[in-house]
Formats: sequence, C-alpha cells, structure tokens
Amino acid sequence: MESKPSFPTHEVPASKALYERAVKLMPAGVNSPVRAFRAVGGTPVYIARGKGAHIWDADGNRYVDFCGSWGPLILGHAHPRVLAAVHAAAERGLTYGAPHEGEVALAEKVISLHPHLERMRFVSSGTEAVMSAVRVARGATGRPLVVKFDGCYHGHVDHLLVNAGSGLATFGTPSSAGVPEDFAKNTVVVDLDDRAGFDALVEKRGREIAAVLIEPIPANNGLLLQRQEFLEHLRKRTTEIGACLIFDEVISGFRVAMGGAAQRLRIRPDLATYGKIIGGGLPVGAYGGRKDLMDHVAPLGRVYQAGTLSGNPLGMAAGLETIRVLEEENVHQKLESLGAQLEERLCDIFRRRSANASVVRMGSIFWMSLQAGEAPRTAGCIESAAAARFAPLYHFLLRRGIYFGPSAFEVAFLSSAHGEPEIEALATALNDALGAGIGR
Ligand SMILES: *Cc1c(COP(=O)(O)O)cnc(C)c1O
Repeated sequence: MESKPSFPTHEVPASKALYERAVKLMPAGVNSPVRAFRAVGGTPVYIARGKGAHIWDADGNRYVDFCGSWGPLILGHAHPRVLAAVHAAAERGLTYGAPHEGEVALAEKVISLHPHLERMRFVSSGTEAVMSAVRVARGATGRPLVVKFDGCYHGHVDHLLVNAGSGLATFGTPSSAGVPEDFAKNTVVVDLDDRAGFDALVEKRGREIAAVLIEPIPANNGLLLQRQEFLEHLRKRTTEIGACLIFDEVISGFRVAMGGAAQRLRIRPDLATYGKIIGGGLPVGAYGGRKDLMDHVAPLGRVYQAGTLSGNPLGMAAGLETIRVLEEENVHQKLESLGAQLEERLCDIFRRRSANASVVRMGSIFWMSLQAGEAPRTAGCIESAAAARFAPLYHFLLRRGIYFGPSAFEVAFLSSAHGEPEIEALATALNDALGAGIGR
C-alpha cells in the first residue's frame, strides 16, 4: 500500500508502474526497507542509470544524487577507471572460490593504509563484517558481552538488532521480531556521549565485556558527531578491562580519510569493519585488526568464518581501482573543500531564511538537521517534528531534481563527481523550498 501524504509528492508514472509490479513480488516491493519511501510517502523513484553525480529515473527525470548508494560511490556513478577494472576482471571469470591475486593486491593496499590492520578478511557485506568482528572479539576474549550505542547501526545481525533495555546495565531488548530475547541478553546498549553511563556499566560488568562496538562517526541516525574525549575514553577503558574496541567504519572507512575515522581521529581500534567504499559499488565488506586477535580465525584458530563469494574478483578489482583513484587524484582533499563550500552555502540559506536548521558535516558526509539549537550528539536529541518537516521538503527537492536518501535520518554524501553546479542546484532548490515555507 502506498501512503497518501498531505503535501504534493513527486509524480513518477513509470516508477509507479514498476512499483506496482514489485509490491506483488517483494515485501513492500523492495530489497531493503528504507527504499520503500515509507518515511517520506509517495512512490519510490526507480533508477534507470547513473553517471557521475547524476541519476536518471524510469521516467527519464535527472537528479543530482546526494545518496550515492548510501556511501560506496565516492567517485560518483560509473567511474570510467572503475568500470574498466571490473570489465577486465570479468573477462577473467566472475568467481573462482579459490585464492587469486586480486584479493592479495587489495589486502596489501588496505593494510598499508591502516596501521591498526595487521590481518584482515574480506566478506560480502558490512553486516557480515561486523558479525565476524564481534565473533572474533568474543572468541579471543572468551567473554560474552557486546556494548553498542543507541543511534549506531551495524547491519542486521540478530544480536545487534537490540534497543536499550530498561535501567542501566540490564541486557537489551530485540528491536526486530524474529530475534529471541535470549539473543539480546549479551548485548548492552549505552547512549552516545554518555561517559558516566558507560563507566557505570564497565564498573559493574567490565570483566564480561568482549567488545565495545561503535561507529566512530555515527552516520546512521543523522550525523551524531562525538566528542574526541569520549572516543578516547572508550579506547582507554577498553584497554584497562581487556575488551576489544571495534570501530565500525563501514561508512567512514575511505570516506573521511584514506585511513578512515581511525586516522582522522588518531585512535587505534583493536578491530575494525569496512564495507561500502571498499567494494567500489560491488558487494564487499572486510574486517581486521590486531594479529593476535585475527589469529583466532579458522583455520588458524577456532573462530569460524567463511564465504562462497568472499574476495570476489570483481569486487576486489572495483575496490582496488577506487582506492587508487582516491590516492592518485587527492580526492579527500578536494572533497574536504567542496564539503566546506556546501556547508557554508546551506548555512547561509538557513540563516537568511531564519530557518531553525543546521548543517552537520564531516568531510564529504553531511546532514541537514531541521531543528533549532546545537547539532545533536545522541539519538534521543532528534525531535520527531524535525523528521515530519523533512517529508514535504524531500518531495520538493525531488521535483527540483535533487535526490537524497528518503528519510530524515539518513546522511548525504558528496562524490568527486560533484562540483559547484551540483551544490548550486541544491542551494537554489533549498532556498526556494524554505521561501515557500516548506521544510521549516
Ligand atoms: C551500511 C552499514 C552497515 C551494514 O552494511 P551492509 O553492507 O548494508 O550489510 C554496517 N555498519 C554501518 C556503520 C553501516 O553504515
């Protein structure tokens, strides 16, 4: 069923026809929930193709793409060098289920860029990477508990689909049906930016904690930038209690610096997980860290982890070529200044339109927070009214050829294919929306 919002939505007949076929085939017509447009109403836009900073829908409408497939496309769509690398790999066969040079080459490159990665493994998604890293932490420490933070997302691993329980240091409760209460018992959820809450937990259950898992730059519930001191405190305390600090860098890896958030924040995690950019647009994830921990992975040790398509030749080629372009073309530096330019432009519009809104940004990741006051650091600080303001703005922007992820809680991305014209297109549309009273 399609929702019927009270504001004008973007009319896309060809997408609508596809969606009507899809809902008879897949739950809500989609293969990942947010794509169903439930958070913004209206018809999901069906994408026919992408090139550079742009995508075209089934009706032939063109959009500036600020979603970038949720993060992987730091070079934009269909980058010629990435396509050529994938094509060349495909000519040599799509998968072998056996070792090959491509995985060695990508692992060498990734490890050379991350001093905390002494050993690593490739998997096929971010979810798998996190699931495997947590298993290593538990296997290596012989402890059961995982600490995660409210507002961070780590994929759809059963025992991580968990919300805070009632009261401090109790176990969490499943946030998804199909996850037995028992699975959630070994997951404890703490608030971001809550040093006292974290310390109280450590005081009480420190010896049971295998891992403290965090997105160092939380980017799945708006952009909840953390204080440097908070992250440093997690590093210090985990070392003291003999627990693993796991950085989930599935978004931040290769995005905020070549060496991800660990490099940018100068904090060395024990284990880290990657996805999105590391596969250059193909389904690749990775996890790795200290050698003594990774030596627990089978067949060296007793932590089992495997994958039929792990280290897939096409994914390895796309990832390696993407990283090479990032290095050779100094992409992070360019994205940093483009990001600053975008932030300045949007902030200026918010100010001039007296909108209660701000831009939160880290490099090429940005998020428009449609509420007054300081940028939120915790999930609980995001007002529901801010999310409600987003839906009509979203459709206004779509009609003006601007594509964001369809939810107020999703961050946006710049790519090396974006430039001043794309920023101007967004700025102009946003200015007009606010002028018409939309999004405020
Ligand atoms: C996207 C994401 C995941 C899950 O990755 P998938 O490839 O979608 O399974 C895990 N952690 C973070 C931080 C993510 O952003």
